This record gives sequence, structure tokens and C-alpha cells, in this order.
Amino acid sequence: MSAASNETMPAGTTGGTPGILLAHHLKQLKLPTVLREYDKVARECAQGGIDHPRYLLRLVELELIDRERRLVERRIRVARFPAVKSLDTFDFAAIPSLNKVLVLELARCGYIAARENVIALGNSGTGKTHVALALGLAACQKGFSVAFTTAASLVNQLLEARDERRLLRLQRELASVKLLILDELGYVPLSATGAELLFETFSQRYERGSTLVTSNLPFEDWTSVLGSERLTGALLDRLTHHVSILSLNGDSYRLKDACRRRGRTGGGPEQNQATSDRHDPEAGEIRPA
Ligand code: ADP
Ligand code: MG
Repeated sequence: MSAASNETMPAGTTGGTPGILLAHHLKQLKLPTVLREYDKVARECAQGGIDHPRYLLRLVELELIDRERRLVERRIRVARFPAVKSLDTFDFAAIPSLNKVLVLELARCGYIAARENVIALGNSGTGKTHVALALGLAACQKGFSVAFTTAASLVNQLLEARDERRLLRLQRELASVKLLILDELGYVPLSATGAELLFETFSQRYERGSTLVTSNLPFEDWTSVLGSERLTGALLDRLTHHVSILSLNGDSYRLKDACRRRGRTGGGPEQNQATSDRHDPEAGEIRPA
């Protein structure tokens, strides 16, 4: 076929330089893949004796595939993950307390459609952030909007927004995201106002969107972060109404990894305890002893 030939083009696009006009129109229509590929695919189709409708179909399909990829990339950018991690690189054997079947089920994102929550609990270095990032990535790939933040950072953002009289806008944004990932609840105690603003965020998301929280603290210790027993009770009530709980308890993977790299065998619970004091939640790394 001769898709690139002028003979079959409607009048008006035939004179002069159709390539330039076509490029302009395709840009306006936001069809960058069609623009990039039409000439090459035309030659392939001509060689293969493929007719015009199939040529067009091939181009449109390429555009759709590319568009989906661009959307996923955009969702990942907007989510502000500190790193992109997936379950492919997660070693479930290293953390037997974690329910692998449940994690794989969560990666299918049914809980987001059902507006249910996830809580990952466990000591430092056991893979909570990795699993949270992987579930966040899976959500982006499945078409859900995601926001990733730490509890301390979110509270700072809320306090700042309140001072700058744009709290409502931020709260609306936070309420509308399909999956909010709140990492590291527990490392930093919150001020009374901070805890209240965090509670409001959970409250506004309740049964509207999914929230994934990771914490190094068991539920009974959450009061030490949130300050008030009443507030903690009300927050847990909302968060745990529809929830999957992931338990990650074991030796720190960071420590085992560091030992392995130094050519030593894995760290026991004693070393684990010693390292947790050197854990820098901000950097997500262990500082040298
Ligand atoms: P936590 O958030 O529980 O403190 P992280 O998720 O930050 O722990 O894990 C610490 C480091 O170890 C990260 O680099 C993470 O990718 C890695 N890691 C932890 N657990 C595993 C695992 N089971 N398989 C592969 N990597 C892991
Ligand atoms: Mg973490």
C-alpha cells in the first residue's frame, strides 16, 4: 500500500509539504507515537501488503500502548516514591512472618477498588518500606493515583499548609488520591496539632480511598506518637475498620545484607537491637557504628 503517497490523500493536504502539516496536526492532537511511527509503519505495511484500515489500526494501537506507559510513568512521578521498588526484587524467604499470599493478593489492588486499608508492622529494616513501595508501584501500574510520604513529612506539610492558609486545598488533594502511603509512623512523636491534622487526614479518607501505613510500633504504642489515647482510638477505629495487616518481624535485612557484604554471617537479634538505635529514618540507612 502507499499510505505515505499523496495520491490517496484528501485535497487540501496534498499540496506542498504534507509532512510538516501532518506533524503539526498530530502534535495538536497529542499523538506523538503516530507522528514518530507513521512513516516506518507505512513502509512495513507496504512491504507486507497490509491495507489502510490495518495500517491505521497498527498506528493507533502503538499510540495506546505508549500512552498507557506514559500514564504509568506520570503516576510514578506524581507519587514521589523515594525509590522505585517492586516485589520482583523482594525475597519473601528472608521474612517468614510476612504472609506472601496476602502481599501478592494486595498487589492486584482489589483493596484499592474496595477502599480498604493496609498496615505493615515490624521492626526496623524488615522490608516495610520496600513492600509499601512495591504495592504503590503496582497501584500506579493498575491505574490508581498514589501519594507516598512519611508520617513526619505529611504532618509538616499539613502544618505548613495551615500556616499559609491553604490547608483545605491540601486536604482535598490528600482525600482524592486513591492510595495514600504513609511510611514510618512511629519514629517521630507528633505535636498535638500535628496529630490532630493527621487524624483529620485519615478521617477524610475513611471509606473514600485506601491508606497504607507502615510502623515500627505495635498498635498499643501508637498513643506514644499521637499523644492522646482518645485520638489514637478514633484513628485506629477508622484505619482498621477494613484492613489487611502485614506482619514483618524478624532480623533486619539491612544488617544481614551489610554482614553478607562484609563477608560475615547474618546478624542475630542482639545485633539487630544495637542497629535499630543507629537507624536513621530520614536517610533510610544505618549509620556506621
Ligand atoms: P523497613 O522499612 O522495614 O525499615 P526497608 O524496606 O527500608 O525496611 O528495607 C531495608 C533495605 O533492605 C531496603 O534496601 C530493602 O529494599 C531491603 N530489603 C528488606 N527486606 C528485603 C527482602 N525481604 N528482600 C529484598 N530486599 C529487602
Ligand atoms: Mg522504612
